[in-house]
Amino acid sequence: MKLVLTPQTLPDVESANVIADIKGSEHPEQVIIVSGHLDSWDLGTGAIDDGAGIAVSMEVANLIQKLHLKPKRTIRVIAWMNEENGSAGSKQYAKDHEKEISSHFAAMETDEGAGHPLGINIKGRAEVKKMFTPVAAILQESGAGMLNLVEHCGADIESLEKAGVPAFSPIQDSRFYFNYHHTAADTLDKIVPKELAENSAVVAVVAYALANIEQPLPR
Ligand SMILES: [Zn+2]
Repeated sequence: MKLVLTPQTLPDVESANVIADIKGSEHPEQVIIVSGHLDSWDLGTGAIDDGAGIAVSMEVANLIQKLHLKPKRTIRVIAWMNEENGSAGSKQYAKDHEKEISSHFAAMETDEGAGHPLGINIKGRAEVKKMFTPVAAILQESGAGMLNLVEHCGADIESLEKAGVPAFSPIQDSRFYFNYHHTAADTLDKIVPKELAENSAVVAVVAYALANIEQPLPR
């Protein structure tokens, strides 16, 4: 067997997170993050890791506008930079917004591919799961009604999780994710458009629920 290994480490260059807000109508200072990461492993095009997460997050903003919904809190779409090489983008965001952590109402990330969503992961207090029972009932119709309390919801929202911000992510069918993840085979043909759209729908429902829920989430 002959292996050709090509990795090399180059010096850091300046780059940026890409951030867009739909301003909340009642509590614009309170923020719900909907996110994925912009960079990919260098071998493939990064369609499932994490082009899918970016597409899902952008589509959430698109759906909310198309449906003329008025979120009461701000929905902030973030395309994080540099998840794969140490999460510099999300760490910088947490640093820059250190003083406004308490106004970060919740954070979501989609980073497990584009497979059919089964429900929602929640990193937070058990009461948060209870509060989301009506949301799960809505999502159950599309087969995404599960609510799981987990220890961790996504690499880029980890700094916010640690600061006590309730975190969410879609539970995705990731049976095939690691067949392609971080390889040259991570290309757009691995994505089923219908399943990608299902993920956008689930994340949009959760984001809108977070934006408009009456009571604050316990931290
Ligand atoms: Zn990823």
